Amino acid sequence: MDTAFPLNIDQARELDRNNKLAGFRKRFYLPEDKIYMDGNSLGLLSIDAEQSLLRVLDEWKNLGIDGWLQGERPWFWFAEEIGAMASQLVGAKPEEVVLTGTTTVNIHALISSFYEPKGKRTKILADELNFPSDIYALQGQLKLRGFDPDENLVFAKANKQGLLDEQEIIEKMDDSTALVFLPSVLYRSGQLLDMEKLTTAAHERGIPIGFDCSHSVGAVPHHFNAWEVDFALWCSYKYLNGGPGGAAFLYVNQKHFDKDPLMAGWFGCDKNRQFDMLNTFIPADNAGRWQISSPGILGTSPIEGSMKIILEAGIENIRWQSLRLTDYLRALLNEKILSKFDGFRLITPLQTQHRGGHIALEHPEALRICQALKDRGIIPDYRPPDIIRLAPVALYNTFGEIYLMVETLAEIMENGEYGKFSAERKAIS
Ligand SMILES: *Cc1c(COP(=O)(O)O)cnc(C)c1O
Repeated sequence: MDTAFPLNIDQARELDRNNKLAGFRKRFYLPEDKIYMDGNSLGLLSIDAEQSLLRVLDEWKNLGIDGWLQGERPWFWFAEEIGAMASQLVGAKPEEVVLTGTTTVNIHALISSFYEPKGKRTKILADELNFPSDIYALQGQLKLRGFDPDENLVFAKANKQGLLDEQEIIEKMDDSTALVFLPSVLYRSGQLLDMEKLTTAAHERGIPIGFDCSHSVGAVPHHFNAWEVDFALWCSYKYLNGGPGGAAFLYVNQKHFDKDPLMAGWFGCDKNRQFDMLNTFIPADNAGRWQISSPGILGTSPIEGSMKIILEAGIENIRWQSLRLTDYLRALLNEKILSKFDGFRLITPLQTQHRGGHIALEHPEALRICQALKDRGIIPDYRPPDIIRLAPVALYNTFGEIYLMVETLAEIMENGEYGKFSAERKAIS
């Protein structure tokens, strides 16, 4: 693939002219005079998302409480309806996905139902590279059930390249495992796990399995039903461009609709019975039963517009373009950075089936290099201690931007410009 791209700005612009998804870029608000490569952390606002948010604000203004039933998309069914839209992205049935809670809250809500320790089977299998919030939630869930996380939370370890080995994860699934919970795409390296293979292996051993897909939904197609994944959850603010801290999604395979949501709340009720205000919880007969509270309609409403735009583009097209962009980025990094400057290592796996939407570069001066890039109007993403993440997003980034970014990175390395920045981290990096 590397040689397929002639590496100069004119060719980058030519690739942009031939991009079938090019029309989507103008539907996003791009920070002025910046090259934004951080869509894997916070996706950008689209006009579509802005419109659905403004519409809902207007409904609140004009309808007050009647917005719950009389909004253009009545707020009472918002979570289920946007969930149904998202189900198309993940290969699920409409009733298997709901927009609710937040990523970590959904982990708690789902683990409370899917962690069913019995006899020897008390352990949760996770991995040491997962996002820390996921680990904290698993530890908390174990403690809630009276189990010591030091003994019952088992971690698959990273190999020498800093990646997970699916075979090693599978070997750790044994008759003490009650549940497997893993990320789809690792947030640092960008490694994409083979969810189908892991699900099959878990089920062969009688173990339920769930995934945190925060770093893959919106960038990578999923086929939860075909793979028979038991449950999954993901945020809406990364590749789904739903807005900072907006509501998250959860998926539960319909064969589990009879499970008890232990983090129960009244929005998990059967919608026809919710306003009977009974003290007996009659849960919905779909993934909606894992909802807890009234949906935060303002934080939820932009997601309607963001889902619309992604469905219109098509997730397969998005994946295709995303891979072209990251292939191009890798080729440029190889030619202009890795072969010229010491200390860099590309940690994202090469093969397309093993990587998500971003490219991760390791360098001991990652923090200062990121600061120097920001100073030049390029927005990368830093993860301690030494990782620079670069996420060219299919719907709004261009080959031209990637070219300019890598040229700038080469300059920063060439003239040692990063040296003038402080090695102190800010609260948000
Ligand atoms: C982004 C992300 C989170 C963030 O959790 P919130 O509860 O939304 O703050 C958690 N886990 C993973 C794997 C993520 O990628």
